[in-house]
Amino acid sequence: MKPKVAFFDFTSCEGCQLTVVDSLQTHLDLLDAVEIVQFREAISERGEDYAVAFVEGSITRESDQARLKQIREQAAILVALGACAHIGGVNAIKNLAPLDDVRQYVYGDKHTWYATYATRPISAVVPVDAFIPGCPIDREEFIRVVKAVLLGKKPPIPDYPMCVECKLKENICVFHKGGFCLGPVTRAGCGAICPTYGDGCEGCRGAISNPNRDSMKNVLAEHGLTTEGVLARMTMFNAYEVTKT
Ligand code: SF4
Ligand code: SF4
Ligand code: SF4
Repeated sequence: MKPKVAFFDFTSCEGCQLTVVDSLQTHLDLLDAVEIVQFREAISERGEDYAVAFVEGSITRESDQARLKQIREQAAILVALGACAHIGGVNAIKNLAPLDDVRQYVYGDKHTWYATYATRPISAVVPVDAFIPGCPIDREEFIRVVKAVLLGKKPPIPDYPMCVECKLKENICVFHKGGFCLGPVTRAGCGAICPTYGDGCEGCRGAISNPNRDSMKNVLAEHGLTTEGVLARMTMFNAYEVTKT
């Protein structure tokens, strides 16, 4: 019997689900190996019997929690899909300002109509078995993680800094060009795509397990950057982590 798989979304742009659709188009073998019972982006069926759940999006409302817990109860394996679900992502930028100010800014005099609370990743609400980082996810990494999950293996997600990949590509370091980069503390796996095209890494894959933040701050200070400047840049995708204490 094929494993039953479902996809769900919370607060997100749905770009990671679109990447899944794109990825499956060239991996028909995988599509053949599972039964997708729910995937709003791709099919109209709404099956509630599934063993593996992929969850995109961050949790931004009290009411999200009950739905996520229900998914967790049903799924033997729950995978966070993309930066919003994994680390809070861009949605957590709102955590940097008082919640009422944010609601008024977005909804004006109707702000009391919309219930919302501080953004959090799905792991802040339920236990998560695996994650696929990135904004959006990498289409080939998605396939690797799905195969590992189905085989009961540990997903092959790198836990070393972006600088390793960047050096292997023989890029000129963005710092040496007067720019800014979070590569020293960010999880590798995207092929250092931003530095390769001349931009600094903004940390969309989240921090590695044991980042040397103090060393990072010292390096930045050497380049004339302040701690405030560093934090401001780390909050593009990692505001939940920065503000949660
Ligand atoms: S991680 Fe990025 S691409 Fe994926 S849903 Fe969130 S905002 Fe969209
Ligand atoms: S550009 Fe960024 S990722 Fe590349 S070596 Fe420099 S700090 Fe590291
Ligand atoms: S280089 Fe950094 S910001 Fe760019 S895709 Fe990779 S992890 Fe994300």
